[in-house]
Amino acid sequence: MPCCSKHSLFECQTESEVAVSHTSTQINKGFATAHAKPSYAPHSRIEPTHMKITLDVTEAALKAKTVKAQVAITLNVPASTVASNAVNRELVLNAVALRIDNVDGVDSFDYDGKRLTLRWVKNYTGGVVTIDYVIETPLAGLYFHVPDETVPDRALHVITDHETERCRYWLPCVDQPLVRTTLDFNITHSTQHAAVANGAHISTTASESDPSVSVSIYRLLNHTCPSYLICWAVGDYISVDDGDVDGIPLKYLCSRDNKFVTKETLLHTFEKTGAMIRWMQKKVGLKFPWEKYFQIVSPKIEGGAMENISLVTYKDIFLYDEELGRDGWQMAVDGVNVHEMAHTYFGDLLTMRHFEHVWLKESWATYMDFCWSEDHYSHEEARYESFLNMEGYISETGRYYRPIVCKTYDSSWDMFDGHTYPGGAFRIHMLRQILGDETFWAAVKNYVNTYNGRFVETEDFKRCLEQESGLNLTKFFDQWIYGRGYIKLKADYSYDADKKVVQLTLEQTQVDKDLEIPAVFEATIEVDVIDTDGKVHSTEVVFNDATGNKVVAFILLGDAKPDAVEVDPRGKVLHTLDFNPGEAILEGTAKRGRDIMSRIRSYRQLIKNGSISALKKVSSAVHDELYWGVRAQVYSALSEAKIQPAVDILATALILEKDPKALRHLTSVATAKDERIRQGLLAVLARPAEQLSGRTRRFAYTNLGRQRNPADLDLLLAALANPDSIDLHGFTLAGIITGLGLHRSAKAFEALVNLVFVPAGTARVIPEACTVLAVDAIAESLGWQENKIRRLEVAELLAELARVDKAHRLQKAAVRALVAIGEEAKPHFGVAYNIASTAFAEQNTLKLVTYVKTLQTAGGDKTAELKKTVEDLEGRLKKMETLVQLLEAKEKSGLFVESAAKTDA
Ligand SMILES: [Zn+2]
Repeated sequence: MPCCSKHSLFECQTESEVAVSHTSTQINKGFATAHAKPSYAPHSRIEPTHMKITLDVTEAALKAKTVKAQVAITLNVPASTVASNAVNRELVLNAVALRIDNVDGVDSFDYDGKRLTLRWVKNYTGGVVTIDYVIETPLAGLYFHVPDETVPDRALHVITDHETERCRYWLPCVDQPLVRTTLDFNITHSTQHAAVANGAHISTTASESDPSVSVSIYRLLNHTCPSYLICWAVGDYISVDDGDVDGIPLKYLCSRDNKFVTKETLLHTFEKTGAMIRWMQKKVGLKFPWEKYFQIVSPKIEGGAMENISLVTYKDIFLYDEELGRDGWQMAVDGVNVHEMAHTYFGDLLTMRHFEHVWLKESWATYMDFCWSEDHYSHEEARYESFLNMEGYISETGRYYRPIVCKTYDSSWDMFDGHTYPGGAFRIHMLRQILGDETFWAAVKNYVNTYNGRFVETEDFKRCLEQESGLNLTKFFDQWIYGRGYIKLKADYSYDADKKVVQLTLEQTQVDKDLEIPAVFEATIEVDVIDTDGKVHSTEVVFNDATGNKVVAFILLGDAKPDAVEVDPRGKVLHTLDFNPGEAILEGTAKRGRDIMSRIRSYRQLIKNGSISALKKVSSAVHDELYWGVRAQVYSALSEAKIQPAVDILATALILEKDPKALRHLTSVATAKDERIRQGLLAVLARPAEQLSGRTRRFAYTNLGRQRNPADLDLLLAALANPDSIDLHGFTLAGIITGLGLHRSAKAFEALVNLVFVPAGTARVIPEACTVLAVDAIAESLGWQENKIRRLEVAELLAELARVDKAHRLQKAAVRALVAIGEEAKPHFGVAYNIASTAFAEQNTLKLVTYVKTLQTAGGDKTAELKKTVEDLEGRLKKMETLVQLLEAKEKSGLFVESAAKTDA
């Protein structure tokens, strides 16, 4: 069995981390290495205040991936530092691998390939420094999309994507959020191309001498912009105007790569933008500030979506059509739209001073997405989102605990994790519960208006909440924001029929001295007991230092007996619950609990109990469950149970489930190798088109391949050859490809090899994202091929692909495949290692370099290094993953089910 799963790589990582950190107790272990040091914002004695950026991006420049550029930086030295004894004779700009031709406005400069140091002989008092330079095939930050022989139909364009520290790969600047400037863009481009940038569109003028060339001017003068939010793009786009909101024009653009994408797709995807702006400015009490609001879609956006000032970028995966709208993708994409828009306030107008305060933007944007759901969808949909957010964060604590505000990390990129997104969002939700709606939103409006245009730290937000409420929130912030952990509740239940009293003991069990997780979090937990007459009896369980970690509640009922017990039924406190009150109460709660979370938890406990009688209760109750999200969670729990009665319930559900969202989820978890499941999957694929989506088909084909039934090979191959299998995002085709990999037969293997390795000069017939999956599928099935020579041949082809293919994500897939194959790919490990360590942005390789160094000192062998390399590659697109987790959290879509697709699809 080859060492190929993400799981085994993760175990390798854990071992090496133990080696790294055994000498010191490392409290944030699993998050940061022992080598990580606290990170601080730079001093700002010489402040950049304005940048005029001039770029030559004509068609020839695009094709050559080479841009001639100039930046004129206005520098201001505050009077206070001029008057003091501070020595202002040097300013260091970040600038990676640029060709610096000339620097004006300095006495001298040094450039070491990473830092451009500007020097003055006497104390500098301000002025303009002009840098002429050339950007040549940048590693990151600026992404060229250029046709090549395997993909001749790429629509020519270039686009920026910076977070967290990637602007420096094309622009000399102080690449830290603290430094913010106004902007002026002069972009020369071919007249048939469009150019967009931050700020107001001033003009686009064709050259009089050469009408094939135009200059577009954009200016952002009313607001300042940190480097990570600078954005521009030039190329061949479909674009559509969508009116305006109070004079702010809305426009959507998309590169012309995908034949399924039309103006209608764009309008459909972003149709709620205007309504969202109106809702949001009311919610935060500050007018939407930009001169325009453009949203641009490109396959080159690695980070998922990015909230650049007035020019938001999206990866193309976020487009949806009618089919995907139906299966839940629309709600997920709307969530991303709200999220990026919320950054207008939380991030763009109020910018974090440094990365330890990143929750002030990401947790807030995540929370605003929840608030949108709360105000626009059913109570259950919003509650489900909140519940899945909570689970997303909690699952990450299986790997590590860190405070929400945390200065020590290996890369600023690492802060963009489940602690920051859903973990911080739920903490904001708890603050809202403590303050009450009215006070909370008044405090938020005060916060947004007070710090508009300024940088913020966590204490600024806390102070605004305290001022408005009169509460002292120091303990809350110490426990929930500056401390680690959350409440783990254990509940014990009993009912005294004579006294007609329910006794419920709640105990906080999270204490961990090593991790400094407290025995008691101050909290008020609501409990509802519903009796057999349907009457609700409510009580509150209060925890504080005086009560300790164990509190007993007595709930007096009338003549009717208890039927259901709901703990925290309105989702006010971040916690997990260990509660097994017996099958009768579990069944009552599953069937008649009013809160979806209580129902989900009861089903899960019944399934965990695993008895025939418990599963019978699940089978009968789930059939009548009205909310799709509860059914989806029951399907997941049944799938994880891996016992035959659970598999039987799933097989039946494959035939009966009608809701497209629940069906998509069910199909994704129908992984058991079982003839009834197989028949169920075939039945799903045979359903009428209007009941299915690309994602449902994807999971159905994938799990059909997993059955490894020779009888299904022809169906998979026929589907592969069917041109209808290519849909908007290639989801159906992706499922077929992954299914062929899991099928492991020689015929399926050769079909995959033919998809990826086309004769020289020939175009691949499938979208690039599917080619990536095909490489993964080859790695999955190579070890099962009997012909050794063929295995070695294909390993060699993969090494060649890693070395020469121009698409980063294909290179990565090939590296990942080589390591997954293991022993037989060993001759090619050198190639894999070199690609992995040199081909990507520095913010993603710092951790890798640290590990490699440690392994070298510890005498680690080459294989261990490589495993680490691949682990790191998988982590590179962390923000994308986090976003995807959020989307999955929203609807447990399993869109990126395979580990490979997690970073690449
Ligand atoms: Zn965000």
